[in-house]
Formats: sequence, C-alpha cells, structure tokens
Amino acid sequence: MQTTESKSESLVNATWEKRPLIVSGPCSAETEEQLVQTAQQLAATGKVDMLRAGIWKPRTRPGMFEGIGTKGLPWLQQAKKITGLPVTVEVATAKQAEDALHFDVDVLWIGARTTVNPFSVQEVADALRGADVPVLIKNPVNPDIELWMGAVERIAKAGIKKIGLIHRGFSTFGNTDYRNSPMWHLAIEMKLRNPGMIMLCDPSHICGRRDTLMEVSQKAIDLDYDGLMIESHIDPDKAWSDAKQQVTPERLIEMLQNIIWRKEDTNSKEFHSALEKLRQQINHLDDELIQLLGQRMKVAEHIGSYKKDNNITILQTTRWNDIIGKAIEKGDKIGLSKEFITKYFDAVHMESINHQKKIMDE
Ligand code: PEP
Ligand code: MN
Repeated sequence: MQTTESKSESLVNATWEKRPLIVSGPCSAETEEQLVQTAQQLAATGKVDMLRAGIWKPRTRPGMFEGIGTKGLPWLQQAKKITGLPVTVEVATAKQAEDALHFDVDVLWIGARTTVNPFSVQEVADALRGADVPVLIKNPVNPDIELWMGAVERIAKAGIKKIGLIHRGFSTFGNTDYRNSPMWHLAIEMKLRNPGMIMLCDPSHICGRRDTLMEVSQKAIDLDYDGLMIESHIDPDKAWSDAKQQVTPERLIEMLQNIIWRKEDTNSKEFHSALEKLRQQINHLDDELIQLLGQRMKVAEHIGSYKKDNNITILQTTRWNDIIGKAIEKGDKIGLSKEFITKYFDAVHMESINHQKKIMDE
C-alpha cells in the first residue's frame, strides 16, 4: 500500500511514541556552529530524541539577549539535516508559528510566559489551524491549572491532534531552592485531567542550576512522566541565556545513565499480589480515617451547640494554635512533615468550623 506520510512526518510520529522521550539542546540558538555542534554531540550519544533551541526568547527584563530570531531557522534545518534529530522551537506569535512551519520545524512548543496569555495562545492556535504539527504546552508561570487547560483546549480546537505538556515549575515570590517551584501536585492534577497526553518535565527551568537537575529528573521519572526536556550547551558557562542551568552534552548523558528508569507496571505475579495486599491495608486505613473524621465532626457539633447556648465565638485562636503546635511535634516524631500536618489540620479545622456554624445557624 502506498503511504503518503513523508520521511520527516514518520520520524516525528515515531519520536512522539518513544518513552522516555528525551529533548535537549541549548536554551538559545546563538550561532550556527554552536547549534550544529551541540546537536552533533547530542546525536552521538544515541540517547537524545529531539533537538530544542529557542530563537525567540521571552526575557523577563529588557536588555538581555532576546534570541537570534528567524535567522536561526535555517540553522535548525541544518542541524536536523546533519544529525537526523527532529527539532523543536518555542513560538509565541502567529508570525513565529508560520515561520517555524515554513522551515519545517517538527514540533512547536508554547512557553510559560505565553501560556498565561489567552490572547497569545489563541493567536498561535489560529495560525496553526489545519497544520499537522505536534505542540508541547508548558505550564503557565503562575500556578493556575485552568490557564494551562485553557491553552490545551485552544490548541486542540484548532485541530492539533498531538498535544503534549511540559512541567517547568511555577514562579513564587522569594523562593530559594528552585528557580521555579515545582508544585508537583499541580502537574499530577494536570496529568490526571488529560489521560493519554504526554507529560515531560523540564528540570532546567525548575532548578535554574546544574547541581539539582538530577534529583528533579529522578522525581519526574518516579512520578511516571513520559520524558525530559533538559537544556544543554557545548560551553554552558558562556551561554547567552540561562547559563547557570545548562549542562554539556557529556554531563547530560552521565545524568541520563544515572537515572533509575521506572515503568508504570510489570507482568510479575508476585509483585501484583504483594501490591494488592498493601493496597487492601491502605483501603482499610482510609476507611478508618473517614470514620474517625466523621466522629470528630460530631464532637465539633456538640461543642457548637454549647458555644451557641453560651454565646461564645466558633473560632478561638489560642486553642487552635495549641492543637496545631502539639500535632506538629507529634507528627515530627513519626516522620510526618510540618507542611503536611499544617495542611491536614487546616482542612480538618475548616470542616469543623463549617459543622459548628451549621449548628449555630439552626
Ligand atoms: C525555555 O525553554 O528556554 C524557556 C523560555 O522556557 P519557559 O517558557 O519555561 O520559561
Ligand atoms: Mn531557558
């Protein structure tokens, strides 16, 4: 049977199916030599599936390197021709999307600063209508899952079939350990809302530094992400953007070799029966927790009716601070983090207040 699929299309289709999918390349394309050399070194490792390079760079502050622009598109074509690696580029406007398609860029990605803006995402979506190109969508800079979903919906409505997600972390004020806080729960929620859509992790923009890339990459793989997008550069310290977080292709390979690659499932019978037993225990414990929480709320309701009869306020801050202080101390002794105890007790407290309020209003 005759197939109409071009060589480049079938390459992209195969790449899209690959697990783990590894995308790497410089933050920015700087010169043709830099891009081609990085691509060659990455391709030689046999571990990288796609070349990334930014040519239009959305910089937070003016006066920094804002990307080489359209001039970089033939460099990407050249890098692909020499190495056989499909290429991906960030697009933020209709013109950029059209130019990228004109130069046969295989996969487009939407950056975090674009995902936040529905006007921009819609503009890119309109420019892509009718195009058969996969699109990766980074999370928005702010921790707003609805904006991320909105971007996915706009691109999907334009008829794009292959859509992937990239988790690059969220900006928070005064944050120290990360350049962008991962807030893993948001990415997990996004994964659950979009079953079947690939999710890559971008540890480079989460970490903002080289020494923690490995740890964050491993966590993503442990959480069943489909792959990684990691920035690499032939001379990272001299990079024109994001110098601190880029690694050499050599270091990238070392990292990829050290990651423990896990799979979501196995055929092993022993594994499944052991897992089943442990899951039964978890189910029992969860049932008990629900029963206990129900009992706790009943007691809160009794307290509510006493408070009502005596005209006492629901909220008594000293009592609450006392409860939470003791809980944090006890939790710490059995390995429960202060963060978890605080979140858990806050939720229990809110529910308890609602129960008491209901009684007061009766
Ligand atoms: C990038 O990938 O270089 C980039 C600009 O990323 P982000 O959109 O995540 O900031
Ligand atoms: Mn970057």
